[in-house]
Amino acid sequence: MHPPSIQKLINLFSKFPSIGPKTAARFVFYLLKMEEKEIKELVNAISEMKEKVRLCDSCFKPFEDELNKNKLCEICKDPRRNKAIICLVENETDLISIEKTKKYQGLYFILGGNVSALRKADFKKLRTEELLQKIKNSNPPQEIIIALNPTIDGEATILYLERKLKPFNLKITRLGRGLPVGGEMEYADQETLASALENRR
Ligand SMILES: [Zn+2]
Repeated sequence: MHPPSIQKLINLFSKFPSIGPKTAARFVFYLLKMEEKEIKELVNAISEMKEKVRLCDSCFKPFEDELNKNKLCEICKDPRRNKAIICLVENETDLISIEKTKKYQGLYFILGGNVSALRKADFKKLRTEELLQKIKNSNPPQEIIIALNPTIDGEATILYLERKLKPFNLKITRLGRGLPVGGEMEYADQETLASALENRR
């Protein structure tokens, strides 16, 4: 048995995405070897992030807003962005991947969370209600691009979203071919992702 304070940290790290108890234990023993100063730096960095970062009211992208004055992220606030197109992504990392292509000028919406095709409860973790509210409230967008990973779970999510969005009579597109099937968007190179965006259907 580990000492309780070590076990407590292992349990906390085990809650991280894709981190099992073994990796969690490795993190903790690494921390144990760190200098006092480095530990302080780490702890401060975590609380600083929590203090400074908030989620955009419109797309849920995290952004820094120290004075707590802004409700919208830099993308949603940018007057040059095309507000008639909304790109639905699974998470923050996918948004960044698409931004890096510099080929997309519309807005985003981060669905949040992963969805398993087999677990119906997972669908509740998506921000579906928030998305539908947004479509109802604002000027309805002309197009919604569903930019999800071409995995089995991604496909199940696309079908689910298409069903939810159907009553709104919007143009709904999805990424074109080219992304490796079963692959994750964040590993696709920029050119492939850009062409999948351009060839959306
Ligand atoms: Zn935003």
